[in-house]
Amino acid sequence: MAKKWVYLFTEGNANMRELLGGKGANLAEMTNIGLPVPQGFTITTEACTQYYEDGREINDEIMGQIKEYIAKLEEITGKKFGDKENPLLVSVRSGARASMPGMMDTILNLGLNEDVVAVLSEKSNNPRWAWDSYRRFIQMYSDVVMEVSKSEFEKLIDAKKAERGVKQDVELNAEDLHDLAEQFKAKYKEALGEDFPTDPKDQLYGAIKAVFRSWDNPRANVYRRDNDIPYSWGTAVNVQSMAFGNMGDDCGTGVAFTRDPATGAKGLFGEFLTNAQGEDVVAGVRTPMKITEMAEKFPQAFEDFKRVCKTLEEHYRDMQDMEFTVEHGKLYMLQTRNGKRTAQAALKIACDLVDEGMRTEEEAVAMIDPRNLDTLLHPQFDQKALKANTPLGKGLGASPGAACGKVVFTAEDAEEWHARGEKVVLVRLETSPEDITGMKSSEGILTVRGGMTSHAAVVARGMGECCVSGCGDIVMDEANKQFTLHGKTFHEGDFISIDGTTGNIYEGVIPTVDATIAGEFGRIMSWADKYRKMEVRTNADTPRDAAKARELGAQGIGLCRTEHMFFDPERIEAFREMICSDTVEEREAALEKIEPYQQGDFKALFESMEGDPVTIRFLDPPLHEFVPTTEEEIKKLADAKGKTVQQIKDIISGLHEFNPMMGHRGCRLTVTYPEIAVMQTQAVIRAAIEVKKEHPDWNAFVPEIMIPLVGEVKELKYVKNFVVETADAEIKAAGVDLKYEVGTMIEIPRAALTADEIAKEADFFCFGTNDLTQMTFGFSRDDAGKFLNAYYDAKIYEQDPFAKLDQKGVGKLMKMAIELGKPVNPALHCGICGEHGGDPSSVEFCHDIGLDYVSCSPFRVPVARLAAAQANIRNPRK
Ligand code: PEP
Ligand code: MG
Repeated sequence: MAKKWVYLFTEGNANMRELLGGKGANLAEMTNIGLPVPQGFTITTEACTQYYEDGREINDEIMGQIKEYIAKLEEITGKKFGDKENPLLVSVRSGARASMPGMMDTILNLGLNEDVVAVLSEKSNNPRWAWDSYRRFIQMYSDVVMEVSKSEFEKLIDAKKAERGVKQDVELNAEDLHDLAEQFKAKYKEALGEDFPTDPKDQLYGAIKAVFRSWDNPRANVYRRDNDIPYSWGTAVNVQSMAFGNMGDDCGTGVAFTRDPATGAKGLFGEFLTNAQGEDVVAGVRTPMKITEMAEKFPQAFEDFKRVCKTLEEHYRDMQDMEFTVEHGKLYMLQTRNGKRTAQAALKIACDLVDEGMRTEEEAVAMIDPRNLDTLLHPQFDQKALKANTPLGKGLGASPGAACGKVVFTAEDAEEWHARGEKVVLVRLETSPEDITGMKSSEGILTVRGGMTSHAAVVARGMGECCVSGCGDIVMDEANKQFTLHGKTFHEGDFISIDGTTGNIYEGVIPTVDATIAGEFGRIMSWADKYRKMEVRTNADTPRDAAKARELGAQGIGLCRTEHMFFDPERIEAFREMICSDTVEEREAALEKIEPYQQGDFKALFESMEGDPVTIRFLDPPLHEFVPTTEEEIKKLADAKGKTVQQIKDIISGLHEFNPMMGHRGCRLTVTYPEIAVMQTQAVIRAAIEVKKEHPDWNAFVPEIMIPLVGEVKELKYVKNFVVETADAEIKAAGVDLKYEVGTMIEIPRAALTADEIAKEADFFCFGTNDLTQMTFGFSRDDAGKFLNAYYDAKIYEQDPFAKLDQKGVGKLMKMAIELGKPVNPALHCGICGEHGGDPSSVEFCHDIGLDYVSCSPFRVPVARLAAAQANIRNPRK
């Protein structure tokens, strides 16, 4: 039997959204529960996918079914396309599985031609309405189906209004609109060299194709990427008989929510326009009235609407966003969906629904989009001000929040300007560890290079600061402290505004509003904690970040990147002395100077977590990242080491690497210089001993030492021997009972492939999915941003694998590592500390493969808590 490609509204229901799209499934559901819905049919999402598979053609089988359903619709409505007595007019709307507001196309009043207009004019005794509908249809069809710009037609309307000396469209009479329709058709012919189609069926086929085509338009592609909607889903097409809101003053159209989408407060919220069609409300050509004012104008329709709202809310057990039309006083429902809402409203609505007995706690937790929480935790642009601005360019939304300030080009300037009370945005080609203080002094960071796991992105996320990275369109002129973006040159001190959630970049000042954690936040989070099985730790290198993370619910530290501790002015000198040493003794002497600092840092971190686990990752980046760059610093180092400037320069140039990410870093550093591991072990264990003595009741306190970039068990064993020997000696000398663990990062594919061997030597695995992604794809984590766009355009990849875990490839390695490791070492515990640990869909995957914890930057801790709960609600762990 042939596949079913088309469904009447009476044949579907709310559970069929994958096939019918959200709009189609809900139109069917509303029909089923007896609400007044103009009837129609839905062409499935599968037909859309098939359209693309067939080279953007609707095949004969699908076309045959569309024709069959046109006949069915004609029978149901008692109207016919092009009929001289009772002509059928329809709307054609897109409707994907997930709602994508405004991303795809809609066509209203389809089925009109000169003959039909004549019939409608006469029958309705309302020629103005008939011609108004026709001119709207020509305009929409030309724009959406044939891609003739809307503005061409708007110019003609403006000219007509000027000619007639009127301001509003509604002041144009039937004759004016008739004339406009003629002008529009002439414009169509001029642009396309053919007549405007008159056969309603041809019009419909063109419109259906246009909706399918709109699935692949650039704004839909960007929206999908931002919202995690796969390209493979496709959109359905809804063909619905028209109800007319523009037939006179007893008609109208509106959109409404059952609760306030900004605050979540219960009550009808929306807008209504008399004698108008849907697009007028959205386009803002006329000022709509408040929905409540509809009660006076249309008392019966308003009563009916209120009843429908109640029915729909109780039916869907969620806030509804509805579109409706009133035709001669009678209400028709055109759409309902779970309404989009602010984070604050989402929390309030979820809690209220529990209090109203409509939802369970688990359902309330599952209702909230974890990504939405970002807006509660970071400053945002004032929405009104934002609407008045158009982005000048776009980079990667690397760390959420909004920032506005004066452009500065160096970390030093950022610090200096900040100290004198200026708000600044630091613009750099890329950032390096030395820029940290300047980054902290800035409102936001904008970089030309670097991806989602670049230094700027990772560090900004850790600090909870807005960052847009990898905007390759910027032409940077650092020497003259200026840059150009799409024709606009920014000098030092010029205002810029950046949005770290969308990656958008704006010229000038857009005011920001501070983040406020709403009252219901704590309630939802406590429910989330009740239903999740994975722990949530944080990636933190400073007591300040750790304290923030703790406040946001972190249950430990999953990654402390110790290298970030070396950049303090007093420490960096000692560290440089270590790098430029010729003998072990020289190196040890330099390291000895750093040890007390590290010990102090570690102690503070242990204390911040109050006895919960803290993982200290040993030194990871290549040594050349730490060497001096200015003549002055080089001279200072030479003097301290008793060497010549040239000798120091030679050492530095000897550290040069062609591919530093795959070079002398991670455990390779401690294989070469075990004394670094010895010093770091001393610092960890000595700090832990102090903490243990001060807090004997912290029974679970077990410091975790983590060796990075291991690819071979012997590598781990070699470094671990130094660690164990040093730690045991320290513990013995102190005479305390302290347990510690030594584990490894799994961030090199070979480590995953040989995890059964590595597990014998490791107390824990922590997936470093930044490097694991880099090395599995062979994509440089700092440079991939430059070419990933081409991959998105070609639909090779739909998501940045550094932001969203590649479950198929990288995920397979993770799963394999657990499956190989656990049988060998049943006590092995496993977590993740790559940036994916704070991404909701990646967190869900981590739950599914059995990780014990995820670790993410402090401000993403609530996101991870919620995502972990949702994962367990969806797929409960035994
Ligand atoms: C990783 O590689 O995922 C990781 C956490 O380490 P880093 O980002 O410091 O390389
Ligand atoms: Mg790494």
